[in-house]
Amino acid sequence: MTLSTVSRYFFVVAMLLATPHVATAQQPTERDLTAPLTAEAQASLTPEGVIQLLKDGNQRFLNDESLERDFMEQVRQTSGGQYPMAAVLGCIDSRVPHEIIFDKGVGDIFSARVAGNFINTDILGSLEFATAVAGSKVIVVLGHTECGAVKGACDRVEMGNLTSTLANLAPAIYAVDDVEGPRTSANEEFVQAVAHQNVHMTVQNIVNRSPVIRQLVVDGDLIVVGAMHNVSTGEVMFYEDEMMTAATLAN
Ligand SMILES: [Zn+2]
Repeated sequence: MTLSTVSRYFFVVAMLLATPHVATAQQPTERDLTAPLTAEAQASLTPEGVIQLLKDGNQRFLNDESLERDFMEQVRQTSGGQYPMAAVLGCIDSRVPHEIIFDKGVGDIFSARVAGNFINTDILGSLEFATAVAGSKVIVVLGHTECGAVKGACDRVEMGNLTSTLANLAPAIYAVDDVEGPRTSANEEFVQAVAHQNVHMTVQNIVNRSPVIRQLVVDGDLIVVGAMHNVSTGEVMFYEDEMMTAATLAN
């Protein structure tokens, strides 16, 4: 299939998935942040604007000012379709619940989680659905501090299926060559350098391994950005100097 054939296919799938949605006219600036996005509200957002909405949400979370949401009302509001602003690929770690740390509700973000936040074909396909089909404007690759998967990979832990899961982190471990001391979980600086490197490489891998996602980025409809969640403070730091945009892909 050519890319345009793929795009048409996605369009048809999107049409089949989306049932008619009753949207109220509203300006993006006046949008009620506790109400799920409508198709119009999603369309009005830019990738840069979505990154700001995620930052704003994390700041509210840090300030203990998360918005009050009626989740059952949001269930009713999203029953006819979904128009999330972003897709977040994060670790399964229980301390990194995406909706909570970004202060988001039902229908706001796609969430893909796997120990060590790497990609494989299934996760890449899920991210293609979230963006090319469902219209999300940003993919966030969210690493976190004190990551057990990263520590286990550094220590070459072997156990059942986890062995092959952790093998996905080996490229990041090999790529870190500027940290002194042991290359094990005993070295906090090394562990964090690997976590950052893994986020960086996953951002690159997403754009390199998915022509569908790469085209969205080239067209300016999508930004792929890495971020690091500090499990001690709750703060999410975006690696905006490493993000993939139309401009970075043009260079
Ligand atoms: Zn983790």
